[in-house]
Amino acid sequence: MDAGCTAYWERVGNLHIHTLASDGTADHNAVAQAAGRAGLDFIIVTDHDVFLPEVQGWKGSVLLLVGEELRARDNDDGNHYLIFHAGQEMLDQAGEPQHLIDAVNERGGLGFIAHPLEYAGSYSGERTYNWQDWDVTGYSGIEIWNYMSEFKAHVSSLLRGLAYIFSPKLAIRGPFAATLSAWDAVLTERMVWAIGGSDAHAQTYRKGALKRQVFSYEHLFRAVNTHILVTEPWTGDLVHDANLVYEALANGKAFVAYDALASARGFDFNAVWREHTFTMGDTLDLPLDESNDYIKFEVTTPHPAQLRLMCNGLVVAQSKGMRLLFTTREPGVYRVEASRKYFGRDRGWIYSNPIRVCVR
Ligand SMILES: [Zn+2]
Ligand SMILES: [Zn+2]
Repeated sequence: MDAGCTAYWERVGNLHIHTLASDGTADHNAVAQAAGRAGLDFIIVTDHDVFLPEVQGWKGSVLLLVGEELRARDNDDGNHYLIFHAGQEMLDQAGEPQHLIDAVNERGGLGFIAHPLEYAGSYSGERTYNWQDWDVTGYSGIEIWNYMSEFKAHVSSLLRGLAYIFSPKLAIRGPFAATLSAWDAVLTERMVWAIGGSDAHAQTYRKGALKRQVFSYEHLFRAVNTHILVTEPWTGDLVHDANLVYEALANGKAFVAYDALASARGFDFNAVWREHTFTMGDTLDLPLDESNDYIKFEVTTPHPAQLRLMCNGLVVAQSKGMRLLFTTREPGVYRVEASRKYFGRDRGWIYSNPIRVCVR
């Protein structure tokens, strides 16, 4: 029994960032400073095709870690893979997707499918970089929400593009439904964990006389973040603190949130069975002879929202406010979605990792 009496500390970070080392627009120190101004606790820089561990460390109040974003298979524009904690340059392993996934796992690393599905807005006409090989297995998780990817999808005209650049919250709606469906489909087979990221580049776009940075690193770090639950407080030691981050990411102790709508710090999703408490990433193995026992799911949010408890991809309970309670004895994969209204439209706010209930 995965008895949950563990205490957790919440840390907020951004896991998909480019610097001048690839196609971003600021160096590691400036990016870390922007993260500090945005109130983040940690960032993982994922430049394309380069791994620079020597820049890692504490930068003021921000833990700066380094991973890498690789394109599996050279002759293709899709299959972007975010790699954390592999401890070495992985570019020479960027062949077939399954080979890259296995190579990362063999080195004790974690790998997440980046922006799995993209849509080119009819005006922006930007290229899309989809994950194309869904027969692969062994990856740690999926980037269910990529802020710049979503933004790109909604730019259907110049006017709309300008409106969104000056008021980005009008554009953002939540992870793509097809991405969530793909994740739910994989979850029927095995646990894979959700992360979210900004895909921060902070590039400047020009249109005639108009020139504007879309968007600053600080703006991007106040948008789609990954909140993790670490099992010990940080000590200031790089290796110790980095290991806590990777332990949380490896075990699904995380949720994805669009913090620009409202800070999601303090969100909680638990299942209580007898005297045991389970949280995101946990599996509750219910002994067959005790499967008549009820499990109590409890969701709490730091601000009022529309709350939905999903089981195997379907809504099984919903409520409005800061709390949702649901009692059941049905096995399945349970996860939470929370949304908030902004300008008349329901916007995605929080997406939890699942708690799985099995009967054995
Ligand atoms: Zn990418
Ligand atoms: Zn990227």
